Amino acid sequence: MNERSLFLRYLAQTSATPIALEIVQANGSWLTDRDGKSYLDLISGISVSSLGHGQPRIVEAIKTQSERYLHLMVYGELIQSPQVRLAEKLLATLPPKLDNIFFLNSGSEAIEGAMKLAKRYTGRPHLISCHKAYHGSSHGALSLGGTEAQKQAFRPLLPGIMQIHYGSFSDLRLIDEQVAAVFVETIQGEAGIVAACPSYFKALREACDRAGALLVLDEIQCGMGRSGTFWAFEQMGILPDVLVTAKALGAGLPLGAFIAPKAIMQCLSHDPILGHISTFGGHPLSCAAALAGLELMLEEQVVEQVAMKAEKFRKGLEGIRESHLRQQGLLMALELGSFERVQQVIQKLLAQGVFMDWFLNCDTALRLAPALTINNEDIDWACEQIREAAGFD
Ligand code: PLP
Repeated sequence: MNERSLFLRYLAQTSATPIALEIVQANGSWLTDRDGKSYLDLISGISVSSLGHGQPRIVEAIKTQSERYLHLMVYGELIQSPQVRLAEKLLATLPPKLDNIFFLNSGSEAIEGAMKLAKRYTGRPHLISCHKAYHGSSHGALSLGGTEAQKQAFRPLLPGIMQIHYGSFSDLRLIDEQVAAVFVETIQGEAGIVAACPSYFKALREACDRAGALLVLDEIQCGMGRSGTFWAFEQMGILPDVLVTAKALGAGLPLGAFIAPKAIMQCLSHDPILGHISTFGGHPLSCAAALAGLELMLEEQVVEQVAMKAEKFRKGLEGIRESHLRQQGLLMALELGSFERVQQVIQKLLAQGVFMDWFLNCDTALRLAPALTINNEDIDWACEQIREAAGFD
């Protein structure tokens, strides 16, 4: 059997229509399939490969760490240099209040940890999240999800969770003294790139403070430079109590984390002891890759280039018939109006050598999340191809 048959025969499928390309090599913004055909990667593994594929410095860091040690012990017991150095460097990108980090393996896991932290710290039973939100696929994270169609088949989910409308000032009155935390994506990703205004975030912050609820910002998709600032909340003029990150954090390896003030975080270490634990959380290989990626991002001022590249995309995709672009840095959704049209354009683009997809909670828009390191020539070519596929020129 060839790889395609083995994939379809033995791997659990997540849909009836997997993309099912077999990529054999990935470098920079480009993927190559088994037949030698190249594809410009405009989704970066869903906002993961922000520094491009096969970044030599990241590959080298993984090689070096793999020769030192792999897994040694469950998270939190031994001093592992890649973990502590990464923690130090990552926390330096944040205001001093956010000074303590808990490493896990994925976004969903980090969300689960933040949910437990909020309940344990406040002693309160309720959580609030937003309609159309996506926080992950595990039971707890799914319970925070804002799309009923994804939750229905898996009930009963966690009790005590209520959704408010993202961006609605009037819904903020629902944050009361029973609420442990409000979970919000700073920029809603799977809803199709939707950003509320800074005044909403200010009101949200005030509502949480009034009720004594923690404000948890999910920057799993929009953080790590993608929005044009290192953290998207920097554009909102507020500070969260807890920040959740993953995806691009691991620079291509699995890594997630939630970050909070030490005074809040330390409650997970007592009553009960080992209140949150993980075997593989903060794996040394992932942390070594993440550290190399973070150093590279900072040294090469990758985030500083996002606004200019985003503007180039905006101009390149301007004026397309019956479409509009929602854009937050290099996190973009090209709204095409219908699922059928999106599917048609994706298939055409694949044939033209461009790799794209859509959003979980918004299937009428094309997802654009290229590597932050994409070059100008590739941006021009990408826009040309999208215009051609959508049949506008
Ligand atoms: N939160 C947001 C905003 C996401 O976009 C995702 C994944 O797409 C998650 C949480 C879940 O992360 P993971 O798939 O790593 O569990």
